[in-house]
Amino acid sequence: MSCYDQKVAPRREERLQTCIAHNGGVCGMGKKAKACMIDDGERGFTQGSICLLLVALAMLNSMPETVVLIHGAVGCGSCAHSQNANTRSGGSVRFGQVKDAIWLSTALNEVDVISGAEGKLGHAIREADRRYRPKTIAVVSGCVPGLIGDDIDTVIAEFQPEVSARLVPVHCEGFKTRIWATAYDAVYHGVGRNLLKPRTPEAERPPTSREERQAAVVETEKLSRTVNLMNVSSMGRVDEVELERLLQALGLESNIFPVFSHPDSFHKATRAALSVSTCPTHDDYFLRQLQEQFGVPFLNKRMPIGIRNTSLWLKDIAGHFGLGAEADRIIEAEEREVRAALAPFRPLFENKKVFLSAGEFRALVTAQLLEELGFEVSGIRMFHHDAFADDEYDKLAATAKTDYTINVANVQPFEEANLLKKVKPDLFLGHVNGNSTAAKLGIPTHTIYNTGLAYIGYRGAFEVARRLHRTLKNPAFNRNLSAWASLPYAQTWYEADPFTYLHTRGASL
Ligand code: SF4
Repeated sequence: MSCYDQKVAPRREERLQTCIAHNGGVCGMGKKAKACMIDDGERGFTQGSICLLLVALAMLNSMPETVVLIHGAVGCGSCAHSQNANTRSGGSVRFGQVKDAIWLSTALNEVDVISGAEGKLGHAIREADRRYRPKTIAVVSGCVPGLIGDDIDTVIAEFQPEVSARLVPVHCEGFKTRIWATAYDAVYHGVGRNLLKPRTPEAERPPTSREERQAAVVETEKLSRTVNLMNVSSMGRVDEVELERLLQALGLESNIFPVFSHPDSFHKATRAALSVSTCPTHDDYFLRQLQEQFGVPFLNKRMPIGIRNTSLWLKDIAGHFGLGAEADRIIEAEEREVRAALAPFRPLFENKKVFLSAGEFRALVTAQLLEELGFEVSGIRMFHHDAFADDEYDKLAATAKTDYTINVANVQPFEEANLLKKVKPDLFLGHVNGNSTAAKLGIPTHTIYNTGLAYIGYRGAFEVARRLHRTLKNPAFNRNLSAWASLPYAQTWYEADPFTYLHTRGASL
């Protein structure tokens, strides 16, 4: 039986043997990973993690004409407040309109926990449909319904005939998995099972008139050159434009999906000639579904960050369409131009040590970009490890000057602070909310992902270099910050092994 026949997507712990607690050197990681020798572990002390809802809501709130209905405790979904800026700015650059996300909550309380809350959910579905008349209502369940046994799928089946919106269950019970990337699968699972069929039978009706037949021929021809470009949140509009530009140079069309994509257009993805991920960790679940159920082949090997990886990404796609020679010509011209543009930045970057922190694939390919710019990678921390990035470790090991640390940690800033004190990098790249530890230590920082900035493709390589040059030319801000802000750790912690609590039931210092 396929995963997609189940109501709920499987956990990544089982599906991919994903791990969240490990430390090793870059030189051995690729070999160990390929030999399945990276065991997941525990920490005797942890400082927190990320809930699935954070990721799921970021995707769902971006979809036009969609209401996100969170079935859970009132605090679940509070992250939607901070994400709303992305929804507004992303909608503005794509549609020329600033719109807020519409998200509601059943706000479960103690009485609901004792009595059950399926009735409350049904009422909320009806009310969301009446008030907003959306095309889609995504019903996202948090921990509480999972604990008390509310069956959101049965409620949805009961209420679907009553409402005009299509109802999409998204199972995000936070306690079920420690791998928050499972949220990508949870959203894709709901979308794949509920939104891939055209909304009206009219859309599937064969053409009857001459004009309709001509339009169908044009559409079929276009779809034979259309690539599904998967974006769950790995890139902002500026990066999408860069990849569209490169695909256009090959004569290919892009169907960017699913963030900021209209739910009624999702079925187009089932007729494309190829699906291509922009981050293998994000997209594999849905790519497999598109292939299994609709016969759309896929490429899920690379992330187009850095000069070499962008060229490889483009070559793979061109190879699928038999456009290898065209790709070689484009790559040669693009690489020549970007390398010339980067030359003035290199003297400042040469041999400066950099530490990176992000999701596994993004961290590893950004490390390769920084090496291309002249930096020396001195440590990488990633949120989890799974099988998609094994080859990227080999690439880094081949160029590493030392066997630097690879730390798999689902957000453990205490380990990071300890590591940074020992490694003493000249630069830190991490997510915007994860840069504070390095900043308080006085290390210059740059955000590894921001939807308003360019990171991807040849243009991204240049823009990253330009921004890092500005940061390193004047690193006074974080230096001053470190003089006035401190981290909460005792000196004894900095003197200890950073992995004191890894694979332990606790430890005393
Ligand atoms: S972990 Fe559970 S209770 Fe906490 S925000 Fe996530 S779904 Fe809600």
